[in-house]
Amino acid sequence: MNIILLGPPGAGKGTQASRLENERGMVQLSTGDMLRAAVKAGTPVGLQAKAVMEAGELVSDAIVSALIGERLDQLGEAGAIFDGYPRTAAQAESLDQILAERGRSLDHVIELVVDEDALVERITGRFTCASCGQGYHDAFKLPAVADTCDACGGHEFKRRPDDNEETVRTRMAEYRAKTAPILPIYEARGLVKRVDGMADIAHVTDAIEAILDGRA
Ligand SMILES: [Zn+2]
Repeated sequence: MNIILLGPPGAGKGTQASRLENERGMVQLSTGDMLRAAVKAGTPVGLQAKAVMEAGELVSDAIVSALIGERLDQLGEAGAIFDGYPRTAAQAESLDQILAERGRSLDHVIELVVDEDALVERITGRFTCASCGQGYHDAFKLPAVADTCDACGGHEFKRRPDDNEETVRTRMAEYRAKTAPILPIYEARGLVKRVDGMADIAHVTDAIEAILDGRA
């Protein structure tokens, strides 16, 4: 089973990918992580990538393809969860080839769909206790006593600078721009399945499992 997992920041993609790793023995293949790992391990592709990066150049599609091939060869029977790849039609084509060369194929492209306004509310409402780190939310989880931490009685709270509306909307726009070139390709092949990323974590996992098991 090989899948592509798509979703904007805040949709819970990382959480779902690690659940699939724990429960199904699948392996998440994020190109950034793979690149760092290959460079560190000094694999043939890692050495090639290192030279390119040290020369201040961008790692080419050919190197990324080789990197994915190298990683897939280490997986044995484990299924792959592609994260952040492919981004272009050319990469989508390469991926088909890389998989086919290893007797694999792409089974599903699962997109965690979010409602942008609800996501803005979810993210911009978050704050934490400055002393103990207890998490709160303007709409969903205020302290029982105003301005007093339930856990430690502290009175100071903080918000992450990135948790603002403009950043959330910018990230959504970036996500749409990044997926726009590849979604139609996989739509045409009937591979795209959508899951409500705003549901609670367990429900999202159930929905993904249903797809993987052919129940949805
Ligand atoms: Zn506290």
